[in-house]
Amino acid sequence: MLLYEICPDCGVKLPIVINNKITHRYIGASSSCWLLFSSLQNANEPPIASGELNPLLLDAYCVQHHGVVSRQAINSVAVHALSLFGVLEKGVSADKTYWIRKQVAKKKIRKGNDNRFYWLEPPSSNKGITIVDIIKEKTPFTRSIKLQEYVKSIWNEWFKLHGSTLAYWYKQYIEE
Ligand SMILES: [Zn+2]
Repeated sequence: MLLYEICPDCGVKLPIVINNKITHRYIGASSSCWLLFSSLQNANEPPIASGELNPLLLDAYCVQHHGVVSRQAINSVAVHALSLFGVLEKGVSADKTYWIRKQVAKKKIRKGNDNRFYWLEPPSSNKGITIVDIIKEKTPFTRSIKLQEYVKSIWNEWFKLHGSTLAYWYKQYIEE
């Protein structure tokens, strides 16, 4: 008999994985959801055709899988949301988001504190498109189309709620 688990963050229902120790310390995903994401992100399995927003898969996934309130989760969601903000609102190239992370780290050293960000309440519609919707598409091309939708739909929901906060953080901690 297959036992199922529900991902607390994206709501996807998947068979429980045998080694259920494979989770991330502060990303909120269920082991099975995290495993599917890791295989997509690290092994390109199943394969996905290239697409403009492909480099944002990690950022979108980490924002959707916000976890529960802790300093690490707060900082993680903030940095990944700022990457999405930079690309989708400020025109930063999607393969240059490392620059955004570098700016956050640099300004932290300069200002010497780690409490700049606070918890962003996840949107209630955070569970729209999931990683499973990408994987279950039949071809690399249609998976890529779904991935673009995935990134945009997560971003739209978070932007609606937190756009002004993120714009402020971006100005404070990213722009020179
Ligand atoms: Zn999930």
